[in-house]
Amino acid sequence: RLITFEGVDGCGKSTQLALAAKALKSQGEKVVTTFEPGDTPMGKKIRKLLLSGKYVPVPEAELLLFLADRAQHVCEVIQPALASGAWVLCDRYSDSTLAYQLAARKLGSRTVNIREMLTFAECRVAPAMTLWFDLPVDVAAERMKKRMAAGEKSTRLDDEALSFHQRVSAAFASQFEADASRIVRIDASHDIEAVRIQVETALNSRFSI
Ligand code: C5P
Repeated sequence: RLITFEGVDGCGKSTQLALAAKALKSQGEKVVTTFEPGDTPMGKKIRKLLLSGKYVPVPEAELLLFLADRAQHVCEVIQPALASGAWVLCDRYSDSTLAYQLAARKLGSRTVNIREMLTFAECRVAPAMTLWFDLPVDVAAERMKKRMAAGEKSTRLDDEALSFHQRVSAAFASQFEADASRIVRIDASHDIEAVRIQVETALNSRFSI
C-alpha cells in the first residue's frame, strides 16, 4: 500500500515517516521509504534543476518537472516496491503538486485539466491513505529557522513569501475537506511523540495493524 505524507515545509512529516517505517518494520512488515522530488537517478537531476536556485523555472515548467519526476519515480521505485508486497511510505506526492504548483503558483485556473495531468503522471498509482500534517505556517517558519540555524540547507520557506506558504497551507486544508476518506489530518503542532501516536492510531484504524 502507498501511504503519502504531506504538509507545508517544516511540518515534521519526514521525521514521522521515518518513525512510521521503523514501527512497521518492527512488526515484520516490508517497508520502502521514498520521497519527491528526487528519489531516482533522473529525479536527482530534476530536484537540482528545481531547487538549486541556479534556474528559475516558469510555473508551467516547474509543474512539468515535478510531474516528470513523479512519473519516473512511480515506474522506477513505487510500482516495483508495491509489486514486491512492501508498504511504500512516500514523502510528498500529488497533493503537494496541487498545493504548491496549482494553488500557490496559481496554475489552477488554466483551461487545461491539470488534475488529469496529475493522474497521468501517477501512472495509475494512487495513495491508499494520505497523512496531512497540519501546522500553521508561522509555526512551521519558526521551526525551519531553527533547523537552518542548526545547519540545514534552506528550503522554500526561506525564500518564498509567507503568502505563498499561506496558499499552500490553505490548499492542503481544502484538499482534506474534499477527500476526507483518503486524507487523515494529523495535528502537527504537538511534540514528536504526540504526533507519532496520532500517526500510529491512523494507521491502526485504517489497516488494523
Ligand atoms: O519535502 P522537501 O523539503 O524535500 O521538498 C523540497 C522543496 O520542494 C520544499 O521547499 C518544497 O516546498 C518544494 N516543493 C514544491 N512543490 C512540490 C513539492 C515540493 O515547491 N510539489
